[in-house]
Amino acid sequence: MKKADAQDQISRMLPAIKRSAATTYILDSRCRFIYCNPAWNRFAISNGAPELTCEAVLGSDLFDVIPEVLSAVYSAAFQKVLREGVCWEKSYQCSSPRAFRMFRMRIHLLKPQSWFLVTNSLIRTRSHAKVAAPDPNTYVDSDGLITMCAHCRCSRRVDKPAQWDFVPKYLRLRGKASLHVSHGFCPLCCAYFYPLATASAR
Ligand SMILES: [Zn+2]
Repeated sequence: MKKADAQDQISRMLPAIKRSAATTYILDSRCRFIYCNPAWNRFAISNGAPELTCEAVLGSDLFDVIPEVLSAVYSAAFQKVLREGVCWEKSYQCSSPRAFRMFRMRIHLLKPQSWFLVTNSLIRTRSHAKVAAPDPNTYVDSDGLITMCAHCRCSRRVDKPAQWDFVPKYLRLRGKASLHVSHGFCPLCCAYFYPLATASAR
């Protein structure tokens, strides 16, 4: 595909991307943001993260905003898309304090720039079946850290490390200096979704 044709391809897609309800962005070949659609901005604001709106993230590295424990999985995904030119897909959980939410992520290669078109479509949502109340004695360790599963976002209990509870109030700790989140994987998510990673349960 010639360069002009490639630009035309992106120009043709942009109206649909702008209208899409899926949180969508375009990355350059080094995974730096070069475009985010309006749905991205709505998602950032509704999740209490205005610092992640489009204007703020343009030029920054995607891997700066995803938990370190997910880096290897997503790095391998982008490399596979680049190498094979296939669309890579994965369902993941990103619940809000009010709702259980599942999304389907797709990574498409944009040739010949080797850019990436990434879409995240909401595929399932419902009320949380069971939630726990925040309690520093139960979830905060002696270093002031809450260990949260990077996939299901449950928090590990300090008193019973094998048990992970969904604590909605801990989803929005950004900017609260007294509490910090360390990301890991609960045993079930590790075994099912990320078998090559190491679970954080002790
Ligand atoms: Zn989990």
